[in-house]
Amino acid sequence: MQHEMRAEYEEGSSGRVAGAPVMIWHMVRGAGTAALCGRELAADAETLPAEEWGAAEETRCHSCDAVYLREVP
Ligand SMILES: [Zn+2]
Repeated sequence: MQHEMRAEYEEGSSGRVAGAPVMIWHMVRGAGTAALCGRELAADAETLPAEEWGAAEETRCHSCDAVYLREVP
């Protein structure tokens, strides 16, 4: 199963606005918009390869983190 990271932005700045501060990173399956934690994310939100998950320790979603670690050996 492929995963990728998808950004959640602060209220009022959804979508891929240049330089918009990412509030938190979620993990989605494939190129979907539903985070592992159940949150629905903007289709035009910024994405990152799943390999970057470890580098986003400060801003990653803890619920997604728990599910992701179970799905990825
Ligand atoms: Zn999440």
